[in-house]
Amino acid sequence: MSVWRATLGVDAKTVVEAVDYDEDAEAIVASVRPRRATKRRCGRCGVRSAGYDRGEGPRRWRALDLGPTRCYLEAEAVRVRCPEHGVVAAQVPWAAHGARHTTGFEVLVAWLVVRMNKSAVKELLRVSWETVGAIVDRVVARDRARVDPFDGLVRIGIDEISYKKGHRYLMVVVDHGSGRLVWAKAGHDRATLRAFFEEVGVERCARIRLVSCDAAEWIAEETRANCPGVIVCIDPFHVAKWAGDALDVVRRSTWNDARKNGMTAEARQLKGARYALWRNPEDLSERQRAKLSWIKKANEPLYRAYLLKEQLRQILHVKHERAIGMLTEWCGWASRSRLPAFVDLARRIRKNHDGILNALLNRLSNGLVESTNTKIRVLTRIAYGFTNTDHLIALALLDRGGHCPESPRL
Ligand SMILES: [Zn+2]
Repeated sequence: MSVWRATLGVDAKTVVEAVDYDEDAEAIVASVRPRRATKRRCGRCGVRSAGYDRGEGPRRWRALDLGPTRCYLEAEAVRVRCPEHGVVAAQVPWAAHGARHTTGFEVLVAWLVVRMNKSAVKELLRVSWETVGAIVDRVVARDRARVDPFDGLVRIGIDEISYKKGHRYLMVVVDHGSGRLVWAKAGHDRATLRAFFEEVGVERCARIRLVSCDAAEWIAEETRANCPGVIVCIDPFHVAKWAGDALDVVRRSTWNDARKNGMTAEARQLKGARYALWRNPEDLSERQRAKLSWIKKANEPLYRAYLLKEQLRQILHVKHERAIGMLTEWCGWASRSRLPAFVDLARRIRKNHDGILNALLNRLSNGLVESTNTKIRVLTRIAYGFTNTDHLIALALLDRGGHCPESPRL
């Protein structure tokens, strides 16, 4: 029966006893059993255990399709009595504990879900989206049990991501060393963050040297409480975002003024100027460049706001002591700009001066937090339809945490 083992994608620990076509299920069903030497182990921990009973009769596990046809493995769900876990289903070599699908099927689902759109995955594999979610949970949990996700954490980034129009929050932790997402949990408060440090444990927390985050005071406090000797940095990504927000306040108020004064054409131009102002100058299209030169002539305060934003963005790229003087000068300029949004911003930057400089002097990469943030936002849309936040977190860890199988086959 080794031809059947190869066809079904199971290893030598599995004995294939018969293969039939089930008319009712319209599926191929292979009757299998674990080889004697691998029998009677706890399904949860794998410890050899005494037999208990034969369970509730035969069970089926969905396996990879054979050609166009669905396929199942069928076996007795024998139970054992584990010294630690009590009466549990015995381990089977073809599937994880509690899984309704073979490991080969789960690996394929995990590999596809980060590479293909949601409806294609559902249709190709003939599974529900909830099933995909449960499978992703299991694949990620298995991988995290195999390799310690917190091993070697020295420089990390902590961020909060809002989704569902700001009604839900995820707290995420990235590793600046590996570029990976290492942890995520629903919530955005001190207790949520504390749960991270508790999982990491006192010993590994003591080795964390640098933490980047937004300017929330409680994140810095909780971090210092758990990681002695840590340097807390404010992600330049967040500071650049503050400047973008301030610029948008100025744009909206000039637009409102133009409207109130009956300058309809100018108001329309200003309304459409958002992207030209917001994008990095090197990425501007011809049209957006033209719009910017129009603003320079037509609206001096707005152009001043644009220059302030751009200069701050460039200072945030200076990973050198020179940044200290530049940042101070910038704050002076912004304070005198007669633009309330930028006067406020200067105040905010002065207040967070040390944290911002820590980030620049420690050469923190800005891209990682920003790209993780963007990608998770995309994932929240893909994960739409999961009723369970854990599935979203598992999907994020699968995609950004290095837990995705490298190959679609076992
Ligand atoms: Zn056990």
